Amino acid sequence: MDYPLVVGNWKMNLTLSEATILVGQISRNAEYIKHVNIVLCPPSVFIYPARDALKAKPNNLYLGLQNTMWEKDGSYTGEVSLSMTRNICKYSIVGHSERRRLFNESDEIVAKKVRFCLDNGITPIVCVGETEKFNLEDHFTTELKRMKSSGGILSQVDQAISKLKKEEIKNIYFAYEPIWAIGTGNAATGVYASAVSYIIRNSLKEARGIADEDMRILYGGSIEESNVKEFMMQPNLNGLLVGGASLKAKDFCKICQITSEVKSGK
Ligand code: PEP
Repeated sequence: MDYPLVVGNWKMNLTLSEATILVGQISRNAEYIKHVNIVLCPPSVFIYPARDALKAKPNNLYLGLQNTMWEKDGSYTGEVSLSMTRNICKYSIVGHSERRRLFNESDEIVAKKVRFCLDNGITPIVCVGETEKFNLEDHFTTELKRMKSSGGILSQVDQAISKLKKEEIKNIYFAYEPIWAIGTGNAATGVYASAVSYIIRNSLKEARGIADEDMRILYGGSIEESNVKEFMMQPNLNGLLVGGASLKAKDFCKICQITSEVKSGK
């Protein structure tokens, strides 16, 4: 079984000096946080300085991109290619809800990016999520239909992996991020996130015959030190995608530490 994964998505935040200090602080702590893999996703313009700030890189700490392009090079003004960060980034977030909403990133584009990541040795962290909370207790059947409908979470999952072979699916992560919980301070509950994660797992099992241990699903949405345990106690969740709380070394390292303790049963 893999170690849990904790991903910090810095979005479009921090100055260069703040970013390098943050990398240094997390890097110094990471080697003491056992049994967890940690990914820092700075803005792409900070990737090289972040690599330099890592110096003696702890072997559980990686860099990742917040987004990627599906081509190696060409006339794509403003885009950054995986080939430009080769050997530096091991992961890339793909299809974050902010990219889908603000930059019209479609399921088709997400699928191309996922394919391109795998073709280039990068592990994609594919974000999926619903805009409005599901009422699974009272309206399970209706909500399941909503999940399967166009734009619904199961449709997002299905399309993201549409260009993958069955055996490639174990090489990606999904990040289940209810959009209403991102940056709002209004996290889902552990039970809710686990239930949706279970539905995703079940649908992948039915549609593609994927074994449970070959599916890796993170939770993201208003994670902070106080609610990490609630999510990491859930068997259907393999880690966390953290936004706001990843910008402070102390908070982020504590989140990684709690994840490690809960998942390793210590
Ligand atoms: C995110 O943007 O993916 C995210 C989870 O943000 P936050 O932790 O701030 O809700």
